[in-house]
Amino acid sequence: MGLKLFNTLSRSVQEFAPLNPPKVGVYCCGPTVYDFAHIGNWRTFVFGDLVRRYLEFKDFQVTHVMNITDVEDKIIRRVRETKTPLREFTAKYEAAFFEDLKTLNCREPHHKPRATEHIADIVSLIEKLVARGIAYKAADGSVYFSIEKYRGCGCNYGQLLKLNFDEMRAGERVKSDEYAKESVADFALWKARVPEDGDVFWRSESLGEGRPGWHIECSAMSMNILGASFDLHLGGEDLIFPHHEDEIAQSEGATGQPFVKYWLHGAHLLVECKKMSKSLGNFFTLRDLLNRPEKFKGREVRFALLQAHYRETFNFTIEGLLGARAALMRIDECIGKLRELAGENTGQVQENDTLISDFSSALEDDLNISRAWAAVFEWVRETNLWYNPHSQDETLVDRVTRAKVAANKLAAWEKVDSVLGVGVKTEVEIPADILALLEARQAARRAKDFKRSDAIRDELKAKGWTIEDTPKGQKLKKI
Ligand SMILES: [Zn+2]
Repeated sequence: MGLKLFNTLSRSVQEFAPLNPPKVGVYCCGPTVYDFAHIGNWRTFVFGDLVRRYLEFKDFQVTHVMNITDVEDKIIRRVRETKTPLREFTAKYEAAFFEDLKTLNCREPHHKPRATEHIADIVSLIEKLVARGIAYKAADGSVYFSIEKYRGCGCNYGQLLKLNFDEMRAGERVKSDEYAKESVADFALWKARVPEDGDVFWRSESLGEGRPGWHIECSAMSMNILGASFDLHLGGEDLIFPHHEDEIAQSEGATGQPFVKYWLHGAHLLVECKKMSKSLGNFFTLRDLLNRPEKFKGREVRFALLQAHYRETFNFTIEGLLGARAALMRIDECIGKLRELAGENTGQVQENDTLISDFSSALEDDLNISRAWAAVFEWVRETNLWYNPHSQDETLVDRVTRAKVAANKLAAWEKVDSVLGVGVKTEVEIPADILALLEARQAARRAKDFKRSDAIRDELKAKGWTIEDTPKGQKLKKI
């Protein structure tokens, strides 16, 4: 069985067959660095990470590109308002983005091109479109993409969704990066310099002073790194039109070749059943969640964001995050037991391992993550039933066999977690005062002062920690 994905281009689930296997080129529209990314953005990026990790699980050699949009309308507005130089302004949010990406345990993209560092590629792409007669300079000095000319060449505008061209008015054009989703109009490739742009402009001999439009940035950077045709393009569903449609038009208009083979789009996210908005008080950045009284962790947020199928609207709630915490604790406990049994043994993934086969057959089916989690939790349940601590009346042979089985189970989990990326807590974060008590108790036990050791145990209990004496030493657990 092979991987099947829903391709927005064909509106159907298709077998995934990359252009040049085992290589796979993946482009994911990255952040516009004018503010902290919110939880809706993070759903898309975590989804992109899932796609990449699953392809790597299947031994594809992935080249993952994520652009940084560091020049566009909103950024220029903020640069003007804050009177900060462009690079200084965007650097802050770019750094925060990559920090958050790490907190959510997303693998770092292999290429992270900034639009401002690809101006020459952007200009030459626009020049190609002008040379082919598909782009034109308007009276305001800006260069626009002509939908009419593009269609006149036999090209299809409206590949990702059906458009009503009857409503299109000749000569209508849009300069802004943000505009009505339904309007079909010529869009700006190069925006001529205006006084409001301040210092944000580039000089091009052919195009004049100005700056690129948002859509052309992605066409130029993706083709520059992945080639004229590549395998996978990812993004949130809000980018389908016009952003992605325009990317196709610009790229195919310039090269005459098919741009992307598979388009994958992640669905929206609601927060507490409502559209996220600052005025409703349900707007969360990742940092907001980490700083709440519950002190949520990146892995808990990642787990929550990976609950729903990527094409389903997901309702993000605080209760759901608490559920994520509880579910992860079940996994942690199970893995803790396996580690204890396995000891120093290193295991191997067994052929026909049911966890691996159930998990991967779920993801082969258009990344059916709910079924994949069901396979994980069924495995946790079965592992817990199978588990027995080592006991003294166990024969040595039994003990060795069980340790090996446990090590193999751990190897299977690690393989699965290479996709899920929720990890397992290896150490509980223990506060310094608790650590000091733990050491004092150990010293007391070494000195056979059991009265003192019991007193410290009670003190720890009063502070919310239980202690277990195992053959490997003291084991501390939060109550
Ligand atoms: Zn893009």
